Amino acid sequence: MIQNASTQDAHSVTPSKLWNDLANKVLEGYRLTENDGLSILQCPDDEILELLAAAFRVRRKYFGKTVQLYFLMNAKSGLCPEDCSYCSQSKDATSEIPKYNILSRDKLLDGARVASERGSKTYCIVISARGPTEREMNAVETIVPEIKQTYDLKICACLGLLDAQQAERLKDCGVDRVNHNLNTSQDFYSEICSTHTHEDRIQTLEHVRDAGLEMCSGGIIGMGEEDLDVVRLALELRELAVDSIPLNFLIPIEGTALPPSEKLTPRYCLKALALYRLANPRCELRIAGGRELHLGSMQCLGLYAANSIFVGDYLTTEGQPPDADYKMIEEMGFEVTRHEEIVT
Ligand code: SF4
Repeated sequence: MIQNASTQDAHSVTPSKLWNDLANKVLEGYRLTENDGLSILQCPDDEILELLAAAFRVRRKYFGKTVQLYFLMNAKSGLCPEDCSYCSQSKDATSEIPKYNILSRDKLLDGARVASERGSKTYCIVISARGPTEREMNAVETIVPEIKQTYDLKICACLGLLDAQQAERLKDCGVDRVNHNLNTSQDFYSEICSTHTHEDRIQTLEHVRDAGLEMCSGGIIGMGEEDLDVVRLALELRELAVDSIPLNFLIPIEGTALPPSEKLTPRYCLKALALYRLANPRCELRIAGGRELHLGSMQCLGLYAANSIFVGDYLTTEGQPPDADYKMIEEMGFEVTRHEEIVT
């Protein structure tokens, strides 16, 4: 286990050496333990810059100073029969949000145009559902080839629980990747949802992998979980070998069951991002929902660990204007990329 510098002999180790040594080990293939993860999340705030420098060394090796942009299209809003307590689209939420069935071909195609114009690498088509209906599958199968003929975009589909055949159909129509978030640890899952299980979500990811699709799966922090749940999710995603991790920080939306989280300070969010980077060195790591709300003026520091953000709005909440994102990336000396390149 890593000891924080403050818990060791002050003359034997500095925070800089402590976190730099961990980065060295990770770059040599070391796999973080649960105790390592807890040491990161619980390190003194004064060590954040050294911790981020360590995370950045790992990020730089695999992604250089590139930033990948993702664009979300809420292709079907509200009307979900599930009861995920963080979600404004759940059957139990009383949030005032738009409610509509799957968007028309023209609207889905127009969303792809906007995604492309904003420099996005990936267009994410998201529906609120336990799983897709036949009509929704047909809509995706129809629009995806058309989008891919027209724009240089990767497609990520987030359609809820999938069976093996549905995953294969998505692969066949040109979908590149499926997003299905585990959201939290196995132990905590029943606290946030009763209509499906953590195991159900794992099974969908297995179908996705078996169909030859890339796996995108992440979490939400700030739902009342313990630090150990945050760590366990990071390590579970590593074991599943997901390609991409969106890390959300709970946006407490009026009408949903979950209260605001007191632990989501900007410093805690940065430690969580560093943890996910060090636990998943080669994985795309995206600062997702809650970036603006919880990181505030420290958003740019998050990009020393993460290599990706959403540009534009989230599913039912607003993001900051795209120009603010481009400006932040440029001022950091980073650059937007549409490519996969891994710098070695
Ligand atoms: S399944 Fe998805 S859309 Fe439905 S309540 Fe859960 S998170 Fe929201």
